Amino acid sequence: MNKPRPVHAPMAQFPVVDDCLQVGGIPLTRLAARIGRTPFYAYDRRLLQERVELLRGKLPAAVQLHYAVKANPMPALVSAMASLVDGLDVASLGELRIALDSGMDSREISFAGPGKQPVELAAAIAAGITLNMESEREMETIARLAAAQGIRPRVALRLNPDFELKSSGMKMGGGPKPFGVDAERAPDLLRRSGELELDFQGFHIYTGSQNLRAEAIVEAQNQSLELALRLAEQAPGPVRLLNIGGGFGIPYFPGDTPLDLEPIGANLERWLPTVHARQPQAKVVIELGRYLVGEAGIYVAEVIDRKVSRGQVFLITNGGLHHHLAASGNFGQVVRKNYPVVVGNRVLGQEREVVNVVGPLCTPLDVLAERMELARAEVGDLIVVFQSGAYGLSASPLGFLSHPSPAEVLV
Ligand SMILES: *Cc1c(COP(=O)(O)O)cnc(C)c1O
Repeated sequence: MNKPRPVHAPMAQFPVVDDCLQVGGIPLTRLAARIGRTPFYAYDRRLLQERVELLRGKLPAAVQLHYAVKANPMPALVSAMASLVDGLDVASLGELRIALDSGMDSREISFAGPGKQPVELAAAIAAGITLNMESEREMETIARLAAAQGIRPRVALRLNPDFELKSSGMKMGGGPKPFGVDAERAPDLLRRSGELELDFQGFHIYTGSQNLRAEAIVEAQNQSLELALRLAEQAPGPVRLLNIGGGFGIPYFPGDTPLDLEPIGANLERWLPTVHARQPQAKVVIELGRYLVGEAGIYVAEVIDRKVSRGQVFLITNGGLHHHLAASGNFGQVVRKNYPVVVGNRVLGQEREVVNVVGPLCTPLDVLAERMELARAEVGDLIVVFQSGAYGLSASPLGFLSHPSPAEVLV
């Protein structure tokens, strides 16, 4: 009944000194004292940098790297990313403001997402960024709003491809979708775009998210490049942008293995001469959110109470589902699995026990760890949830139960 759940691979990106986790070179307990309150999210600058370096090393130098702000829009983190990557992708006006504040060149910012409103489109046009067009109506609206501003806006066509990203955590292309324009409708739309005052840049294809299988990503990239190069022949001008999405996943659960970048890099290397021959001005862009920032962040909550109910130990913390929906298992998971969790101030603690870590919300959904073997924790100890740098704070229902919001730091 109280059988422990499968064990995670160790999270080696954060060192442990004297049994205490270190973030950005600072012991977790000291960081907590510095912040002055729990719960909090902490992101490690060095890990962001190392992740970009890893990608730069494995992918061809000519492939451009964009950060998808949706994964973590904390302004300080976006600014840090802006100095590391080649461009930023945003999906709302709020994200656009953060991206512009980061100092990223506006020409290297793109804006995707269905249902962009005229006020959002007008702001994006004024900012001089690239608008990823999601429908025929949106294209006409952009042309009209841009004419009123006397600007020839940079646009790209987001395609809903005629294939899917296999074994992806979340599919966002193929079949009927609200995202982009069905590939078979693209020729008509491209013809029409040539009649409008639009500065056509190229194509955007985003097939899905959280994929740990390199072969599936390679296959989707092959199909994306084939489709984009085929449609490029009907584009109103030379294609300068081929954004083939990303979907690179990170390991969250026991048994997950890290994505192998080798075959992805080799495949893109093979493609570059073909791309160059067919569209000499086109740059290939990969846009990544989770893969860039997910492993660089932790969520930290404090143990407020410790109780035993019918043989099971419950550590009750001041953090939970309202701050970290994904770790509670309620952000798209079909079967709830534990994120990697440790007691941050006694990581390897000699005394171990199987516990449930829960939050303060009056709902059985508020679980951070279920039947996990951890060091024995007492009131005041710090529970750490790893792999929390992406889709954490901004992807959580902060208002639910009206508790305070967590702090956020970049160290
Ligand atoms: C969500 C999203 C991303 C980022 O996805 P990750 O899985 O975090 O890499 C990139 N591009 C688009 C269009 C998205 O909607």
